[in-house]
Formats: sequence, C-alpha cells, structure tokens
Amino acid sequence: MSLKLQRSREAEILELSNDVADEDCRTGRVSPARICNAKDIKVAHNSYGIGRFDGMLVLSEGQWVILCNLDTGNSPGSTRERFTIAHELGHYHIPEHRKQLLAGCRSHGSYAGAFDGADSSEELEADTFAANLLMPVDRFVRKLNYLRQTPLATIRALRQEFDTSWESTAIQAMRHDARIITIAKWKNDGFAWHRISEPAFKADGFRKFQLRDMAALPRDSATAAALSDADTGNDHRIHEGVLTAAHCFGWVAAGGKRDILIREEAVRNGRFGVLSVFSTLESPQNGTKR
Ligand SMILES: [Zn+2]
Repeated sequence: MSLKLQRSREAEILELSNDVADEDCRTGRVSPARICNAKDIKVAHNSYGIGRFDGMLVLSEGQWVILCNLDTGNSPGSTRERFTIAHELGHYHIPEHRKQLLAGCRSHGSYAGAFDGADSSEELEADTFAANLLMPVDRFVRKLNYLRQTPLATIRALRQEFDTSWESTAIQAMRHDARIITIAKWKNDGFAWHRISEPAFKADGFRKFQLRDMAALPRDSATAAALSDADTGNDHRIHEGVLTAAHCFGWVAAGGKRDILIREEAVRNGRFGVLSVFSTLESPQNGTKR
C-alpha cells in the first residue's frame, strides 16, 4: 500500500516537528533522548522479539514511556533508535494521536521508517514527524546547498551530519534537491520500493519507473555494480553511471524531448540492500524547487 499525506496535513506536521526541534536546540544535531528527558518521557530498552515492533509509546498510570526493541536493532544511541524515538515523539506530539492514547486506546507497535510501506496514515504521519525532527528543513537545506556534491554523495554527507538512515535522508533530500528525479531501494532478493519526486512526476511526466527487475538491469549500471558489492562491507562506495530517461521511465519516447540524460548513483548499505538515486545530469541549481 502506498499512502500519501495531504499537503495541508503535512505542513501542520512539519511546523510541529520544527518547533520541537528548535525547542531542543537551535543549531546542531537534535537529540530525541534529550527531548524525552526534558518532557519526562521514560525510554525503556528491552528484547521484545525479532520481527516485532521497533518502538511503542505507552501511557502507564500517568507516565509516558517509549519502549525500544533491542531485537530489531534499537540499541541506545544507534541511528535506528534515534529514528524510533523520534517516531514515537510524533505520536506524543501530534494532537490526534495523543488524544487517542489519553482516551485509553491501546498502544500499537510502530515499525519506524517504513514510509511507503507504512500501513496507516498515523504511521506515515509519525514517520514524517520523525524525519523532519531529525532533519529540520532550514538546517537541512543550508547544509545541502553548501555541499555541492552529486546527489547521492550529498545524501551520504547529510546522513553523517544528521545521524539518519540512508532512506529517510534520501527522501528528505529529494524534497529539497531539485536534481533528484527518483530514488529506489533494493533488497538483496529484489526491488523494494521507489519514489518519484513531485516535480518530475507532475511537470516532467516521469510517471512510470521501470527499472524494477534486478535480472534486467544493465550489467554496467551503477545499481548492478552496487548490488554486486559484498554485503559485509561498510565503506559506502558510490557507483555512478549515465542512463537515458527512456530507459528508466515508461511513456518516454527514445530520442524525444523528454529523453534526457540521467545520472544514476547507487550505494550498498551492508546487508540492508542498495539505494539508487536518479538525477538530472545537467543542472547547476541546487536546492531550488523546479
Ligand atoms: Zn507508530
């Protein structure tokens, strides 16, 4: 299922997350653990089972508690745990979510950072809150414009700066880096998901991403090269290549006006798979909306 938030709703959540981020610190890296401390929300780490939730916000006898599942990689201070706590802080701060918990509705386990895989609008809202809490728009765009590297190299630097996952950083970067047309995620056994940027979809008509078959990828493509990198390594080497729009997208005539050159970059993130970023090859602007 692919959910999408209404623009007005998304704007509300962005404003809320920005306020909470600024309240924590005006510059530098936002700390979800510090926010919990300031708001008297307890954080409890425990083993709740592999394949089960990442986090859960519960209200127990007047005390807010965020449960973090160690079995799904949410160890204290890890990038994943930061996102999980930020996601639960979304449920805590978004008035409608909070109201439900205060009314005695059962807490639900959250799978943080599912984005396109989110199974309800509440989960997508909490993910949106989390991404923008950890990567406040002003700070993010300032850094993005400063970097002046290729899109995926920029994402690599941004995720180090903000201590965020490849996926959430790439999604945030696509909103603010006008060069990025599409991002795609591959698992070791096949295609996982993709997102097309709004301007590319609406204005340029790149609507049908068709590089979804691992076996059909050109051997010399950046994605194929990254997929063949060892999944034990952690050097995050970026592969780069050039494709045509007609090759990447359906309904684009080869040699036609929209058949532009596309920069393909791909990186392996250990056993979690490969992230590919497709961007316009020639665009001097960076960080401006098309
Ligand atoms: Zn949730």
